[in-house]
Amino acid sequence: MKFMFRMAHRKGLDWRVYLLIGCVVILAALLTGASWSAAASSRERQNAADWQVHTLEVLLRTDDLKVATLSMVRGERGYLLTGDPAFLKPYERGRLETDLGLKGLALLTRDNPEQQARIRELESEMKDLHALLAEIIALEDAGAHDAAVARVRSGDGRIATDTILDDLRRIEQIEHALLADREREADAKAAANELYQYVLSAIGVLLLILAMWSTTLVRRALAAEAQAKQLLKRHASSDEMTGLSNRRAFLAALDRSVARSTDGRKELAFAIFDIDRFKAINDTHGHAAGDAVIAEVARRAVASFRSRDLVGRIGGEEFGVILPAASRGEAMSACARMRAAIEAEPVSVGSIRIFVTVSIGVSQLRKQEDTTSLMARADEALYLAKNGGRNLVRLAA
Ligand code: GH3
Ligand code: MG
Ligand code: MG
Repeated sequence: MKFMFRMAHRKGLDWRVYLLIGCVVILAALLTGASWSAAASSRERQNAADWQVHTLEVLLRTDDLKVATLSMVRGERGYLLTGDPAFLKPYERGRLETDLGLKGLALLTRDNPEQQARIRELESEMKDLHALLAEIIALEDAGAHDAAVARVRSGDGRIATDTILDDLRRIEQIEHALLADREREADAKAAANELYQYVLSAIGVLLLILAMWSTTLVRRALAAEAQAKQLLKRHASSDEMTGLSNRRAFLAALDRSVARSTDGRKELAFAIFDIDRFKAINDTHGHAAGDAVIAEVARRAVASFRSRDLVGRIGGEEFGVILPAASRGEAMSACARMRAAIEAEPVSVGSIRIFVTVSIGVSQLRKQEDTTSLMARADEALYLAKNGGRNLVRLAA
């Protein structure tokens, strides 16, 4: 990431790198969104399951309440018909269970105001039924059997029981309807979630492709930049006219060669050559022809030496040659070969043919000798070659 931001500051790369960063950031956001959506849908599923359990619990409670109410009424009737106190047991148990059942139901539906209102109503109806049954049993206990039977016949108990059972059925209906609503809602949410996941995946795939594409662009731009740098470096170290090393690069190479061979364990030969009477060539054929001669001399020189030897242009029409691991004899014969190659063929410039020769001074590196001294001795040898009549190779003392 740090690398990408650094890259973004470089001119020409910014939009590609920003595109890549953008893709990565959006992909990360999408991944977060996808996990969030997955968590949300799992929560929804859990909620739906919880609601089902809740509805079942309410239905169980209402069922228990129905059973308890009927068992209470049946106990009272049994006692009334037989006078057997054994029937008071289911009556009492039913009474207790209706109380407990109503409390439980109120607790289960505490978040639903509509159910709470209905349960409050149910509580008051249940209280009335309890009072009525208690009154009839009290009459029976007091020996007023006929009065008790008359109270039963009045139908108040039946009506109260039916009302309670109806209310319980109504509570069940409401819970069923609520569950159906919530299931519909959960289904809609699940469908929306699924769609969201699909959209996320599609965008993710597109972004991935975009990120891959921008990575390729960045890589290409980097490669182009590296190539441009290399070219710039080559331009900075080479001479445009001849393609040889320029003076600065050549002298640096010579320094390195001298440093490697200065202990005397490896031989190193050095040569300087200069075109003879070049001023006359310029004067006779013009500066452009002179340039063509310099370029041709450079070509022939390079062709005359080994590939490991380095030819450089160190002045206008003056050149240097580094010959690593070359003995005096090898250096002299290579230079003689070059001298002959230049003399052999006149240089053709358009329709003119220009005869060119060079004078060469050769020096062999001595133990502990430095670059300056090595060059000075080659220069002296070159001077000797010029003085000796030119088109000659001379070895420095
Ligand atoms: P000598 O044999 O003693 O070397 O004689 P010369 O005439 O070659 O003398 P010198 O080496 O001193 O002359 C170099 C001339 O080369 C002087 C300059 O005008 C010319 N020259 C230098 N650089 C260039 C160049 O890039 N192109 C051309 N056409 N001429 C150049
Ligand atoms: Mg010259
Ligand atoms: Mg010169």
